[in-house]
Amino acid sequence: MGDWFQTIVDVEASPEEAGALADGVLSWLVSSGVVAAERTDCVIGAALGHPSGPRAGEVVDASGWSGPWQGGLEVRVGRTVFDGGQGDPTAVTCPHCAATVELMNDDFELDREAWEPFRDVVHEWDEGYDVVIDCPSCGRPVEPAGWRWADDYFAFGHLGFRFWGWPPLRTGFVDGITVRLAGHRVVLLDGKL
Ligand SMILES: [Zn+2]
Repeated sequence: MGDWFQTIVDVEASPEEAGALADGVLSWLVSSGVVAAERTDCVIGAALGHPSGPRAGEVVDASGWSGPWQGGLEVRVGRTVFDGGQGDPTAVTCPHCAATVELMNDDFELDREAWEPFRDVVHEWDEGYDVVIDCPSCGRPVEPAGWRWADDYFAFGHLGFRFWGWPPLRTGFVDGITVRLAGHRVVLLDGKL
């Protein structure tokens, strides 16, 4: 099924509305033939997912794609740090003043000192806690989901759609999902496990 994935994260959905939004997007994906309604063992890291449907080929750019395409869609509802899988985050930017904190040292390794406060932000979000730290540049407090991660390495949210092993999703398809998420800001992550 491949260990490469793309995740569309709604970073604005509240915990209360995430379930209904997920249902709306899923019913659209099923009725348009992008995924099948029944769930099977087609995703990694979750019990079951929705396998690709008869029209899935229309929503991806499979040019240059080789090999089998068998993965499915995992719909994730609930507080989650969505990430890019391998590697480390490289930098993070304050949403207020746009100052960027470099998280890599000169050897391209994670700078432990710079990373430390952000490690708490990331890990505590997964545990159910909001750790609000002040921007090192402007001193203003930043909500956990407010930080902008370089290359969208992390996205904090309560709703995500993770496509396992699919060729690159077409922009118009991502837009179609965004429309069904009440126009919320979405982040598209990709990565490998
Ligand atoms: Zn700032």
